[in-house]
Order: sequence, then C-alpha cells, then structure tokens
Amino acid sequence: MNLESALGERSESKCELCSATDTLQVYEVPQSPESASDQDKNILLCATCLDNIYTENSDPNHWRCLNESMWTPVPGVQVMAWRILNSIKEQGWPQDLLEMLYLEDDVKAWAEADSSEDEADVEPTLDSNGAILNAGDTVTLIKDLVVKGANFTAKRGTVVKNISLTDNPRHIEGRVNSTRIVLVSAFLKKA
Ligand SMILES: [Zn+2]
Repeated sequence: MNLESALGERSESKCELCSATDTLQVYEVPQSPESASDQDKNILLCATCLDNIYTENSDPNHWRCLNESMWTPVPGVQVMAWRILNSIKEQGWPQDLLEMLYLEDDVKAWAEADSSEDEADVEPTLDSNGAILNAGDTVTLIKDLVVKGANFTAKRGTVVKNISLTDNPRHIEGRVNSTRIVLVSAFLKKA
C-alpha cells in the first residue's frame, strides 16, 4: 500500500485537521524525527488547511477545527495542532485548547523542534569579525570570490554598498559588477 492510500485509510479520506474531504494532499510534518516512519511523518490535509499553513494562518478562525482534531491519536496531527495553536495563541481561544492538549514527552519534543527555525530567523548576520550586518550596510570583501554563474571573480577589497539580508544568516545579497549576487557573510568586513 502506498503512503497516500495508507493515510487515506487512517483518516477515512478526510483532512486530518478539519475533516474536509476535497483536494486532500500528503503533507510532511516539518522537523520530524528521523526515526519516525513515513506514516508518522506525513498527514493528509485539505487545500484550505495547506493554504492556511503556507500563508502563516491568514485565517486563524479556520483552526477552530483543532478543537476536535487535536484529540487524535496520530502524533503528526498532534504536533501540527500544537504548533498551529501556539502560533496563533494571541487570539485567546487557542490558549485554552493548548492548555487541554496533552502531548507525550517525545511528541512534545517533536512539536517544539519547529521553534528552532524561528530562532534561526532572528539569528544575526555576522561579518568576518563578528560585527552584526544590517540591510543597507556597506561591506568589503576580504578575499577573492568566484561568482558562480556570473563568470567573474569579485576581488578582495571590492566594496559592496547597500546590502540586503537573506533568510540565511550566513548569506547577504549585494551588487558586484552591477550583478546582484549572494555573498557569504564570513568573507565580508563591515566598512
Ligand atoms: Zn483541512
């Protein structure tokens, strides 16, 4: 039996968060433990739930469905319910549900594993000296860098003005030879 039919059987072909039956898709719970089986790592979700997850809860009230689905025995669904409720708890009502939602220790650790991602977001971008780089800063290259795909070498000492930060704290973007490129922050010095 393939994964989708196994999940369909488990969920009775319903979205495992809101019980909708249309356009169901397999969704892999982020930051799943390596040891978890595919059936544990994946849950079946409808398009509305997926859309809400990808748009960071643009419709928090849709998640009132968790009032029921959080009582599932399926750990991956418990993890998603806990994470979603946590991310919208300032709405008030999710906080009440969170207080009722009991997770086994290993499931709780799995649910919390996701927050490390948020911390990475706020991790500062540092230059070679450990100085914090901000958008708009001017930096100098401290070594020659071959720019992949652009076919030139950005020379040591090149000044890059008005940099932008990226999602990755180890990378910035800037314009060199009028080409916008990604630079490794460890090879830069704040000017
Ligand atoms: Zn759904």
